[in-house]
Amino acid sequence: MNYPKVILKSGKDQSVRRYHPWIFSGAIKKIMGHVNEGDLVLVTDNKDEFLAIGHYQIGSIAIRIISFEEKEIDKSFWTEKIVSAYNLRKEFGLAENENNNVYRLVHAEGDGLPGLIIDYYNGTAVLQMHSIGMYLNIENIVQALKEVYGEQLTAVYDKSESTIPFKSDIEAKNGYVYGVSNEKLVLEYGNKFRVNWEEGQKTGFFIDQRENRKLLSEYSKDKAVLNVFGYTGGFSVSAMQGGANLVHTVDSSKKAIDLTNENIELNFEDTSRHEAYAVDAFEFLNDIDHKYDIIILDPPAFAKHHNVLSNALQGYKRLNAKAIEKVRPGGLIFTFSCSQVVSKDNFRKTVFTAAANTGRNVRILHQLSQPIDHPINIYHPESEYLKGLVIYVE
Ligand code: SAH
Repeated sequence: MNYPKVILKSGKDQSVRRYHPWIFSGAIKKIMGHVNEGDLVLVTDNKDEFLAIGHYQIGSIAIRIISFEEKEIDKSFWTEKIVSAYNLRKEFGLAENENNNVYRLVHAEGDGLPGLIIDYYNGTAVLQMHSIGMYLNIENIVQALKEVYGEQLTAVYDKSESTIPFKSDIEAKNGYVYGVSNEKLVLEYGNKFRVNWEEGQKTGFFIDQRENRKLLSEYSKDKAVLNVFGYTGGFSVSAMQGGANLVHTVDSSKKAIDLTNENIELNFEDTSRHEAYAVDAFEFLNDIDHKYDIIILDPPAFAKHHNVLSNALQGYKRLNAKAIEKVRPGGLIFTFSCSQVVSKDNFRKTVFTAAANTGRNVRILHQLSQPIDHPINIYHPESEYLKGLVIYVE
């Protein structure tokens, strides 16, 4: 193998030996030869013993490991990785399922491919690359996708413009790298959603809430449900499906409200049980006294970095306190945080404080996380980002 070598400082090999896929710049003792951003490098300890192969990048995370084995990173490497990700989704009933054709095919570190997200929308794969190394392999990745899906694959859309590090000299532009298809009707547990990856947030749809939406549908019969931060109305459709007698969706974005209404119409002939409001969540929650049996709180990540963590926790606390105060006695709150920097413990403590402030009796019924197509690499706890609680409020 002819990859430039990167030697780690003594003692800095420990995390790699425990299969953590990131090497921070401070761990590097020496880089042998010339390395460009995105190049593959071979990582050794300071006694020249092989540790891993990864993509080099300028920044705090200097190397993202893609192999702990000493092997050639060629076309078949990419195909094997993507086939293995696909097989997991197939084995657990997400792929090749007539009631479901939307899932995350590759969840970065969770699938051993740091820097790469691939979401599959009924024939279209949407890519989001977070590293230069992944970006430079786009052709290999598309080729592997073609091999996995064959005729089923109608298009591949690259949506890395905002996720590729802005300091790199690559100018990533969103666009099709194979075929064209700008919108699709997808099925999640038989529910229909129109997804537009070109205009939508992230890759177009929050796939990670699939199982939590299903859980909501099981609690919704004859209930009045409020879905706050609704986006495409995923939770609202599930609540309607589950037999809710009233569903209200709130999102500050008018576009999100339009999407929600469209998705409700796609699934239900009579939409009179549903109403959507383009208003601020905090404002809306002010005057809903005991109107709802179930409230869903699925806000955007309030904290994207550690330095804003305490502000973010304040935000979660305020939001949860409002909902706990206002939900009907005997009601449920499905509350979430998708901030990676907010730990499970921190989130739970925040909901605890919010509950204590209201003085109401609160019990935790479920502790929720991300579904199997967003697997958590056990050696990389950072891949666990979605946390949720279902609480019962007396
Ligand atoms: N629950 C959704 C995903 C939510 S994404 C799903 O299952 O798909 C977060 C949403 O919160 C976005 O649509 C965004 O427009 C909305 N949002 C952000 N700030 C808001 C605020 N202050 N009030 C209401 N909605 C807000």
